[in-house]
This record gives sequence, C-alpha cells and structure tokens, in this order.
Amino acid sequence: MKILLIEDDQVLADGLTQTLSNSGYSVTGVTHGAYAEHLLKAQGFDLIILDLGLPDMDGLQLLRSLRSQKLLLPIMILTARDDINDRIEGISQGADDYMTKPFELRELEARLHALVRRCYGGFTDIVEIGNLQLDTSNKQILAKGELLNLSARESAVLEVLMLQKGRVISKDKIAQHLSLHGDALADNAIEVYIHRIRKCIQPYEVSIRTFRGLGYLLEDK
Ligand code: CA
Repeated sequence: MKILLIEDDQVLADGLTQTLSNSGYSVTGVTHGAYAEHLLKAQGFDLIILDLGLPDMDGLQLLRSLRSQKLLLPIMILTARDDINDRIEGISQGADDYMTKPFELRELEARLHALVRRCYGGFTDIVEIGNLQLDTSNKQILAKGELLNLSARESAVLEVLMLQKGRVISKDKIAQHLSLHGDALADNAIEVYIHRIRKCIQPYEVSIRTFRGLGYLLEDK
C-alpha cells in the first residue's frame, strides 16, 4: 500500500512516516502541493494524507483539483484548523476522512486502516450508520432509501453527527455548524433538535447518546 504524505511539518511527517512504515505502508513524503500533483501524475499511489496548511497552496484547493481530475484515491485530511466548517468543507470536497491536529499517531493509523478497508471495496460519497445514509455530495439523508422527514436545521445537526460518527460532538460545535444557516439559536434549541431527530431515527438502528457536559454521539444500536 503506497501512501503519498503531503505535510510540511517535518517533525510530524517523520513521525508519521516511521509509524506507517512500521505497519507495512510505503510512505513518500512531500512538503508542497505542486510537487505532490507532479508526483501523482508520475507514480501510482493508493492513498493520500493531505495537510490543509501547505506552504504553496491551500490543501482544500489541492483536494478540489485532484477530485476534478477524477483522481479517486482515498484522501485523509490533516488539519490544525479546529473548525467544523473546514472539516465539513473537506469532506464535501471529496476527502474520505480527516484528523485534527494534534492527534495520536495510533488513532491516525487505525483510521487509515479503516479507510483502506472501506475504500478498496469501492469509492463512495456515502456515509452510513445503522440504516441511515448521508450522501455527502448533496447532503441528503436517507433511511432505507427514503428521505428523512426532518427540517433543514434538524437535518444539518444529523449531518454533523453522521460526518463525525463515532465521536462525541459538543453542543458548541453543532451550534457553530448551524450558525452557517443564519439566525441565532435559542438556548435550548439544540436539545430540541436532538429530541426531534431521536424520534425520527428511532426505527433505523441508530441512536444518539448524550454525554452530559460533553455533547452527543451518534451510534449503531
Ligand atoms: Ca502545515
């Protein structure tokens, strides 16, 4: 499995290369987006790890460019931007997964393994959990093939939870995502949305767990 690592932080790049080489990946490291594009034309890779803050270009720009060239390799984004909008943007631009710095190398490794497993069964824009499917290309959420009966805001909340499946998402993060939609939120608005979403998704083998003081986790039942 050949990985192209596009990361200008040398310490992180060295650590990643070491860890991934130890688990059997062959890693080629580059620091600039332009050189990465050049290499991708010249050699075959199986997977890309892409830092969003590169010296010569924005990683999202590179991501768009690669996807517009129909390069369907799995791409894992690394970002120091602790901003859910960047992550959602990354996923909607065609990234398959992301890690926010700082992260544990072990976690990155586990997620890479999962990504490889997932992607080498076929490339997809669909995020699935239980019987729910989020199509990241148009943000529609289907349950057993039918559109879920949710308001735009409820749907946006569920979208965040699905994109971050397996992780606890704080109310602040959800509120940040919703603020994209305009109006200010009432104090208990998110609880109300979560309550409605819970009712709506109940038949579909998923549930939302509340972690008091921390946030919400969407999980398979
Ligand atoms: Ca960087």
